[in-house]
Amino acid sequence: MNRQELYSITLITFVSITSIFVSYQFFAINQNLKSTSNNETSNFSYTIVTTSFPVYSITKELVKETGIQVKLLLKPGMNAHFYEPKFSDIRIADKSRIVITTNKYFEIWAEKLAQALDRNKAKSFDASAYVEMLCEKNDEITYDVSEQKNECNLDPHVWLSPKNGLLIAKGIRDLLKTEFPSYSEKIEMNYQRILAELKKIDSNYENILANCENKNVFVYHKALGYLEAHYNIKQVPILNNFVPEGEPSTGHVELIIKQLKRINASHILMEPYLNQKSIEYLKDHGITPLSFDTMEVYYKEDVDNNITYTQKLEYNLVQLTKALKCVKNE
Ligand SMILES: [Zn+2]
Repeated sequence: MNRQELYSITLITFVSITSIFVSYQFFAINQNLKSTSNNETSNFSYTIVTTSFPVYSITKELVKETGIQVKLLLKPGMNAHFYEPKFSDIRIADKSRIVITTNKYFEIWAEKLAQALDRNKAKSFDASAYVEMLCEKNDEITYDVSEQKNECNLDPHVWLSPKNGLLIAKGIRDLLKTEFPSYSEKIEMNYQRILAELKKIDSNYENILANCENKNVFVYHKALGYLEAHYNIKQVPILNNFVPEGEPSTGHVELIIKQLKRINASHILMEPYLNQKSIEYLKDHGITPLSFDTMEVYYKEDVDNNITYTQKLEYNLVQLTKALKCVKNE
């Protein structure tokens, strides 16, 4: 046997052993998945899996004191715009009773996840089902009207308007009451509490945002479409995109600064995406970055400190009040 033959035999043996090992591993994982599903179906049948912070928080408030568990699939610090569910996420979702996604335009992976679910165990629900989505066609934004749906870009950021928050809460409440009839009364009580909170916040947004020195609010990416539609403000995005991808050019930032100066505005609502260089550049030109929580990313502290969706909406109104120089009528 020459050297070349010996090498070939060794290689073939190695590849065969590796394939057997990999096949066995896959078989073991599969078997394990099957047996865990069977054993744990009953334990996990009262678990709800959610995919974004707003939906997680609303659902958690709705099932308060029922013992129903709510999980958030998205990990802290990650943005759902760019999230890709892993095999382990599909396993968690599949073991749950219901998977509530925000909408497929925000979580472009939501449909893939819904398709991967074993329908006998987990069912999926779109939290934006009751929301009339904004449709952008050739830079013109209108409300979505059925057949135009495929021809335009739908704005995914529904949760940023308290008016939509009301519809999301209603949709999830209806779902939960159907799925968990024995907790119907408790869910309704929780819903009434959230409803009152959201109505108050909505009326604060209406009253405060109606009395502002400025109408234009400068933001990083185009996330405020529903606030524009519902509260008569105008967003000026640095990135003219529904997804916070890429960095703006210095030329474009200069243009934004000129626009800010023209209307005598000195604030820009910041999201955690803009790089330090751009922030410093804005500060050097007298622009104050104000943080604004798009809720696309959440942090561990939010969950540890039981921060809610409604608290984040209230925080955003405080920041909008500063950016637009609104006068509080109290
Ligand atoms: Zn966004």
